[in-house]
Amino acid sequence: MRIRPTPSVIPFVTQRVGEDAAPDNLMILKNHGRLRLHYLDEEPQDRDPRGVLWARCSFNAYDENGMPTGKPLWKLMHPYRQMVTMQSMRCQVCTQPARTRLGFVFLAQAKDVDPEKTERLTNQPPVCARHIRTAAALCPHLEQPVALLTQSAPLYGALGTMYSMSGEGVKVVAQPDSPLPYGHPQMSTFLASQQVRRLKSIRVLAIDELLRLLRDDAA
Ligand SMILES: [Zn+2]
Repeated sequence: MRIRPTPSVIPFVTQRVGEDAAPDNLMILKNHGRLRLHYLDEEPQDRDPRGVLWARCSFNAYDENGMPTGKPLWKLMHPYRQMVTMQSMRCQVCTQPARTRLGFVFLAQAKDVDPEKTERLTNQPPVCARHIRTAAALCPHLEQPVALLTQSAPLYGALGTMYSMSGEGVKVVAQPDSPLPYGHPQMSTFLASQQVRRLKSIRVLAIDELLRLLRDDAA
């Protein structure tokens, strides 16, 4: 096991101790013959900009820099913070716009990347040029990180849980491993927890190689 020094930077998207799944209050309503998943006490921020219902998780207080407080739960991304950074293509560490001089940078595990494939789905929000190395060092899923450089990363869909009606309430039907694409007929009874983008025409680079290219481009 690798022993890491206590990091001074905690990414914005990381869930913190005290931020817990909030009570569901889920219900399915029929509207114009169509079933739709709702919260009983739904608020506008419960849905993403495409109207998909999002899993609730409480929020700790934010500090004077707009960053959440509390000890990090390194393996978890807060569903709402993951969605807003992914949706707006902001850095998962600092929330600044993520576009670099060379395009958008996403991180992945080297062993998961097929160099023959030019497209890939990801739920990991992008990183800005300043935080490529930090994010690569911090992410618990990345033992051997590589950078995926792309000019185009359209929204694809979401990971989450499929529900159906059960008497007066709801029941879980499936928790698929693959994301459900936006526009899918079952999206209306889906509770999303991670937004997914499709990275196109990917260039796979070692972290050091990408940082060198960014430096050269700046020179
Ligand atoms: Zn950043």
